[in-house]
Amino acid sequence: MLTDSFGRTINYLRISVTDRCNLRCVYCLPGEGIHWQAREDQLTAEEIVRVTTSMAQVGLTRVRLTGGEPLVRADIVEIVARLASIPGIQEVSLTTNAMLLEKLAQPLADAGLTRVNISLDTLDPDKFSRITRGGVIDRVWRGIAAAESAHLGPIKLNTVVVNGLNSDEISVLARLSIENPWHIRFIELMPVGNQQDWGAGFPMTSERYIPVQEMQSRLSFYHLEPVESPVGNGPARTFRIPGALGTVGFISPLGEHFCQNCNRLRLTADGFLRPCLLLDGEINVRDALRTNQPVLALIQKAVNAKPKGHELFMEHYPESRRMAQIGG
Ligand code: SAM
Repeated sequence: MLTDSFGRTINYLRISVTDRCNLRCVYCLPGEGIHWQAREDQLTAEEIVRVTTSMAQVGLTRVRLTGGEPLVRADIVEIVARLASIPGIQEVSLTTNAMLLEKLAQPLADAGLTRVNISLDTLDPDKFSRITRGGVIDRVWRGIAAAESAHLGPIKLNTVVVNGLNSDEISVLARLSIENPWHIRFIELMPVGNQQDWGAGFPMTSERYIPVQEMQSRLSFYHLEPVESPVGNGPARTFRIPGALGTVGFISPLGEHFCQNCNRLRLTADGFLRPCLLLDGEINVRDALRTNQPVLALIQKAVNAKPKGHELFMEHYPESRRMAQIGG
């Protein structure tokens, strides 16, 4: 078992399989001038499998693939198949913008994918296109339908709530959980590489943040009932609109309850283990992989390096990577 210095068991690995993305969500990536990682610096499927296999030997049970956009990676189905067959791995899930999900849902399910989380920040097609800088919302709906047909449920929808951009849609998004067995999760905007101006028509930096308490209060007329979080709902606090098929959750990275149950490491696409999403500091495993050294001691080192919590309240913001390079 992997246990960190604060007694937290680490059994979950988020793997960014690429820093590349087919969308440019305003809070995640700049519209232009992005320097992508060199392909040769990115871990191969084989290298990802080696890190995961080592970690599975000491208690890793769940893996989530993310990015960038994991579905733009040409060997994503092979990666899923290989990870799903590692002894000890009980669940391989994936977070996606769903642009390519319609075609890939069934092959991914056949390869052993268990579930998908889909990012959806608005129900308005024009606003969707503006937030993602070119995304087509119909592809999300077709992706969700394909994921449901492939039994990749329960579907989780992730909404990053930005004040003055989509904060007026919290209630219509939550309403989706009434007739669909979906878990709608509202996430506070994290200050990771997105402090710049997003362009005309978008809120200014100082106006964007809205805390989960405010989101929740905007749903008070639904009389949300607290429920136990579904599997894999991580740091979300989960509720149900009375009688609804799905749930509504709130994730407060900036709040106090985010870190105390942290159970994860992150592996970047270029082969660094990151102990904390919101604090810089990483351990290079790529060099060890490429010189045939064991990586278990590095995994242990990354676990030992996990801080008690992030330090955003001290204005220590992560600066070494954008969110798309860490994987969220
Ligand atoms: N491309 C995939 C997607 O769109 O889901 C996976 C990568 S994306 C970086 C993973 C998650 O991080 C998404 O749900 C996205 O909305 C969220 N995210 C990105 N930047 C964020 C930020 N600054 N604050 C909160 N969540 C963020």
